[in-house]
Amino acid sequence: MSLVVFLPLVAWFILGFFAPTILTSVDLPVPESVIASLSLVLVVAGFFRQWQWFYWCAWTAGFYAVIQLGLQQPLSQQPVTVLYEALPVWLSLTALLLALIKLPVLFSMNGFLLFIAAGLSPFLLLIEPFSGAVGLLNPSKMLSLAGEFPGVGTALWMMAMGGVWATTLLYRQASAFRWSQLVAWLALMVFVIGVKQTEASMWAVLVVSVSFLLALADRMLKLAYIDELTGLPQRRALMSELRYLRKRSAVCMLDVDHFKKFNDRYGHEVGDQVLRLLGSILKSVSGFKAYRYGGEEFTLVFSNNNEEKLKDVLETVRSKVANYPLALRDPSRPKKPQKGKEKRGKQSDKKTVKVTISLGATIKAPGDTPDSILKRADENLYAAKKAGRNRVILKN
Ligand code: GH3
Ligand code: MG
Ligand code: MG
Repeated sequence: MSLVVFLPLVAWFILGFFAPTILTSVDLPVPESVIASLSLVLVVAGFFRQWQWFYWCAWTAGFYAVIQLGLQQPLSQQPVTVLYEALPVWLSLTALLLALIKLPVLFSMNGFLLFIAAGLSPFLLLIEPFSGAVGLLNPSKMLSLAGEFPGVGTALWMMAMGGVWATTLLYRQASAFRWSQLVAWLALMVFVIGVKQTEASMWAVLVVSVSFLLALADRMLKLAYIDELTGLPQRRALMSELRYLRKRSAVCMLDVDHFKKFNDRYGHEVGDQVLRLLGSILKSVSGFKAYRYGGEEFTLVFSNNNEEKLKDVLETVRSKVANYPLALRDPSRPKKPQKGKEKRGKQSDKKTVKVTISLGATIKAPGDTPDSILKRADENLYAAKKAGRNRVILKN
């Protein structure tokens, strides 16, 4: 889902490859379109208080402006050549830096300084000794390819940087926001490589803006529909799913047993750890869609009504949870690392606990509404609790 942010870039590449005339025939006003598209991102990001995007817009605008300034002089001039050797290097280094540091709050001294720095750092390249020094890192310079194949070195650099970046993002389970940063970097790099076309600059910034907007939309959807603790969709998503329930389907309510006692005994944080674990167990079993209904209650929605199959899956979930040994951190664990090492060696602090869940399920009957089917599942859950907990009751 987060990868939708690549769509504008892919569309741009496909058009550029198969129908380049379309790109050049659309006459976009420069720089009005750039200002308009980046402003739109800022307005949407500001409206939803997603200030992180501001730094990236400043970065995009800064590089766009410097490239435009460079383009106003003939490419054969010495300072311009130096600028274009330095651009891909500086573009990549600043992007990586911005992607890797922890972004501060915009309305703080650090945030304000970072915003200014992100927007102004590209302008450093207009100082010739600086761009000369940065340009030395360009592989085309290092491999002496500059004379014959100026693009080859830059392409090598791009592949290496892109590889490093994509790997770290994949490793980190990146969000749409992270991927859109990669898109921004790629779009500007493509533009720098194909720099002779002024029209390309417009498309590059448009691609970046649309990608940022898609990332913002993805973030908003997740904020509205995904529960942060467990990573499962939450009640709002469940209610819209239940409205369009298929004819052959079933619903199950699931509740952690004696969770209040568990919280009282081990603390709320360990309780949260249990809910997170439950979320990942529910994601790991297939055959249903799981939602966090609220608190320590979850809802499973099945798109089949075969009793045997349902019982099988529900039993699997129940036993998986009941048999999972949850490692507890020893509250008396020493704070000093040295002492900790000694103690860990003795294996004395590997305390584990287990939790159980009760499940009440029901099959969709003709005329069922979201409320009626949930109510019936809840009654079965109550029956499972009464019958001694840690069990499944499937009844209509
Ligand atoms: P039963 O077996 O009958 O379900 O007993 P119970 O104690 O689980 O039921 P009850 O509904 O009385 O208590 C639910 C508890 O769940 C209360 C609250 O402390 C805990 N809880 C709800 N949401 C969260 C949460 O997000 N994190 C943690 N740690 N605890 C939560
Ligand atoms: Mg409960
Ligand atoms: Mg409970």
